[in-house]
Amino acid sequence: MTTTLIGSCSNEGDKATNTSVETEFEYKVDKFADLEILRYKVPDFESLSLNQKKLIYFLSQAALEGRDILYDQNNKYNLTIRRTLEAVFLNYAGDRNNKNFEEMITYLKRVWFSNGIHHHYATDKFEPNFNQAYFEMVVRSISPDKLPIKEYGNDVEKMLKAITPVMFDKNLYAKRVNQTEGEDLIKTSANNYYEGVTEKEVDAFYDKMRDPNDTTPLSYGLNSKLMKENGQIVEKQWKVGGMYSAAIEKIVGWLEKAAEVAENDAQKKVINSLIDYYETGDLLTFDEYSILWVEDTESRIDFVNGFIETYGDPLGIKASWESVVNFKNLEATQRTITISQNAQWFEDHSPVDPRFKKDSVNGVTAKVITAAMLGGDCHPATPIGINLPNANWIRQMHGSKSVTLENITEAYDKAAQGNGFNEEFVWNDEERERIKKYGYQSDNLHTDLHECLGHGSGQLLPGVSQDALRAYGATIEEARADLFGLYYAADPKMVELGLLPNMEAYKAEYYKYMMNGMLTQLTRIELGNNIEEAHMRNRQLIAQWVYEHGKAKNVVELKEKEGKTFVVINDYDAMRGLIGELLAEIQRIKSEGDFNAAKQLVETYGVKVDPKIHKEIRERYAALNIAPYKGFVNPRYEPIYDNEKNIIDIQVKYDETFVKQMIRYSKEYSNLPSLN
Ligand code: ZN
Repeated sequence: MTTTLIGSCSNEGDKATNTSVETEFEYKVDKFADLEILRYKVPDFESLSLNQKKLIYFLSQAALEGRDILYDQNNKYNLTIRRTLEAVFLNYAGDRNNKNFEEMITYLKRVWFSNGIHHHYATDKFEPNFNQAYFEMVVRSISPDKLPIKEYGNDVEKMLKAITPVMFDKNLYAKRVNQTEGEDLIKTSANNYYEGVTEKEVDAFYDKMRDPNDTTPLSYGLNSKLMKENGQIVEKQWKVGGMYSAAIEKIVGWLEKAAEVAENDAQKKVINSLIDYYETGDLLTFDEYSILWVEDTESRIDFVNGFIETYGDPLGIKASWESVVNFKNLEATQRTITISQNAQWFEDHSPVDPRFKKDSVNGVTAKVITAAMLGGDCHPATPIGINLPNANWIRQMHGSKSVTLENITEAYDKAAQGNGFNEEFVWNDEERERIKKYGYQSDNLHTDLHECLGHGSGQLLPGVSQDALRAYGATIEEARADLFGLYYAADPKMVELGLLPNMEAYKAEYYKYMMNGMLTQLTRIELGNNIEEAHMRNRQLIAQWVYEHGKAKNVVELKEKEGKTFVVINDYDAMRGLIGELLAEIQRIKSEGDFNAAKQLVETYGVKVDPKIHKEIRERYAALNIAPYKGFVNPRYEPIYDNEKNIIDIQVKYDETFVKQMIRYSKEYSNLPSLN
């Protein structure tokens, strides 16, 4: 289905009722640094009831009110820096047409994209391509009342003195999330989850709380900053009346409105429980909320709003704030219902040791959703699949909810058509044709399998802690889910269930996975660096492991053609066998909490980069002029009122540029002080 061009209405993914307005939809919005900004459609929003539209609108507002929280979580000075740059952008009256100014605006756009001064994915600090003296000059030229100086004694110089080293000194706050083996991961990470404490102190603080015999442990430390105050280590909780209160109060305000238009009682309970949690900060309430949330599978509209994912903390304890508002894509959800209905079959037939399998797979609910609003750590960079809640015991006892964001993957797919990528990196026409024919479909299926079966499969042996794999835990978990998906994508059961058209289709996914894991994902890594991010480590781990272990039988090769390196898969069947073997081993590591084996696997296959191939891939990619990372502008929801100020309709608008949206958000949702 990827053969048609953007703008054509014959695409089978589009409705037959495609109007000419829709065909003019412009997916591409902006491009700078290593980033491209796209736009996503919210199909079928118009067909929702007024109440459902209102619910989405209120939840969308709640999704945006927490934006400042994430900036502050990512680094203590992010809000000051963002506001200073925005003040310059909006008010600087001098020459705006020179290299320094342009570079400063690019820097600001990067800050918006990453919710701070560190790369959203690599987590290292951006280098400003403008000079410090210039920056200070333009800031001093701005009227002080436009600058964020309140927290700096209303003194512009004091504020500048605080932020210029943060921006310009390479060594200060160099990395947001440092995973380097052997270093103090807390002291060397630039996030704002901890202050004045060492990794040892953090471990000791939370080890004291954890009881290995507790079968329903709280997510200790999830919603707080840990810091020293008068020599004592204290937690500053993120709640109404605590840290980030001003933003959380706004979120709660919108949630209260949302509760009034909830679709049903179950959903109303979910919303009220979340409000309760925000008001008390009580982690027991958070677990209660998570259970209510995972059990509400009937509602059409759904949302995530809170301190959820822990990727931003090298120890995986503290959660960043995020939100996704969405509604079920009824037609496409049929696909994931089929997968879920067969979850037990998949668990029973997986190649892992029976001791690590679940006897009964609990409520794996999966759905395909239409994202309606993205906020916090889900914006502008966006996940394409989500599986929650994260607490293992809740997943085991109550199941998990898994979603695929199909309007987002569709936007990616549409924007990538005709960009020359497959022509450059895919070995031959046969593979290219297969990717063209089945790539999008098999990719979506892999995401479904990853989210709704992979993460939900398997179990820990009694007494094994969820955190046993420490810094390697996230990579191993992602590998587990990916492998489960890859293993079953090639199962005849897929064709039998009507999820893939034939036994050729999975090969498109296998090829893309190997090509990405061994070669093309390196485009995202700066020369000289190793791989840090958990999903990327996982992909290389799998691809390299399969390559190395298939060498004797020549399963996968790296071949050269005109000085260029390509992946060639000689034996897809054998490759599936290797995927199954690795899945069994990764599940064993997870189930037994085998830290040493996790470390060995990840460090051997997932981290190091061949410098020669790295350089080659970067050069070939650069010639295509494609941005390696993409993110999105949100739609805008406009309520229509009657004379009594009642909302009578809500319209979705796609009329903002990236800059316009970011400036508006900074104006309308600027809820926190510059220092917190
Ligand atoms: Zn995952």
